[in-house]
Amino acid sequence: MIDFIAASPSAFHAAANVAARLEQEGFSLDDASVDPASPGGHYICRDGAVIAWWVPTHAEPRFRVVGSHTDSPGLMAKPVPDIHREGYHQVAVEVYGGAILPSWFDRDLTFAGRVVTADGEEHLVNTGPVARVPNLAIHLYRQNAPELDRQAHTVPLLGVDQPLLELTAESAGIGAADIVAHELITADAQRGQLLGDYITAGRLDNLTSVWASLEALIAAKDDAREILVLAAFNHEEVGSASTAGAGGPMLERVLHRVAGGFGEPGEIIANSIQVSADAAHAVHPNYPQKHDTTHHPVLGGGPVLKVNANQRYASNAVTEAAWIAACRAAGVPHQTFVGNNSVPCGSTIGPISSTRLGLPTVDVGVALLSMHSAREMCSARDMEYFTKALTAFYAGAGR
Ligand SMILES: [Zn+2]
Repeated sequence: MIDFIAASPSAFHAAANVAARLEQEGFSLDDASVDPASPGGHYICRDGAVIAWWVPTHAEPRFRVVGSHTDSPGLMAKPVPDIHREGYHQVAVEVYGGAILPSWFDRDLTFAGRVVTADGEEHLVNTGPVARVPNLAIHLYRQNAPELDRQAHTVPLLGVDQPLLELTAESAGIGAADIVAHELITADAQRGQLLGDYITAGRLDNLTSVWASLEALIAAKDDAREILVLAAFNHEEVGSASTAGAGGPMLERVLHRVAGGFGEPGEIIANSIQVSADAAHAVHPNYPQKHDTTHHPVLGGGPVLKVNANQRYASNAVTEAAWIAACRAAGVPHQTFVGNNSVPCGSTIGPISSTRLGLPTVDVGVALLSMHSAREMCSARDMEYFTKALTAFYAGAGR
């Protein structure tokens, strides 16, 4: 997983890496010449999102979907990125998603993402470590650090005196003059690593789920009886309202086209089930009062089932039971998160795609600390548990 994360500094890289792995496993890119309901593996990959589906021979007309997201908070280069002032070269950035901004300071950063050239071609790019947002020295303020200004204080310095687009063009072997538009986000240049059982890395929210669902799909497909779907969306961190987000039409179109080969799509989808997989909040030992008194998910305690009476999570008793059955079938522990009434609760793709599609959904994920930091942490044991539980889910546990 650490390799996968290192190779996936942006949503576009993550989606492309999933697609490349699926190609190796015999999945083929969906096109008009192939019946999407025909047995075997199919996928589409677009705008940082990837949807893959596996149709077994003599498939039962029911979907088992695992949804996740490829994007993570960070600093995105603005359309005219280069700034020169005070003898420095800097990059104008826009804050993407709910980043813990101080965590982006004093870190070696790459800019990664996609650029589009004048011929309309997309290219994945990654500059490698070139940038940093330095903290202000403590000597230059008296007691309290100056309040962090999202516009003024987040501007990275570039260590190379070359226009940003020239650097990205070099990384893709194209000419800078050919680049007409770009989507480039910062990523921590430091590779993830193990601290004993802990994994520390950038983008654990939500590449933990993307990676685990990919491994589970590959492990489960050959014995599957139902139609298995992996859906990794872009733009979850900014509300999912985009063509490649969970609020867009990608999954709906795939499910309708595939279901059309078996019967009435709406009926088949309503009879199906989705695991919405996204990172969960582990209790923080220094802030235990932020959690509910009886629901304290910990790192290493197994995948977290997320419940919210106000439907910030899509889980209900029926889908929760299916997930617990999958954990039991896999022989892994599970734990439950429900919010403290006095603390705001996050949300994820589950309620969005289930509302849109009428697809029964359960929200689950790996417990994390430092969520939305440039460098988050989780437990290696949980990754094993989660992958096993998703594999059992795909294999048909909890019907
Ligand atoms: Zn997330």
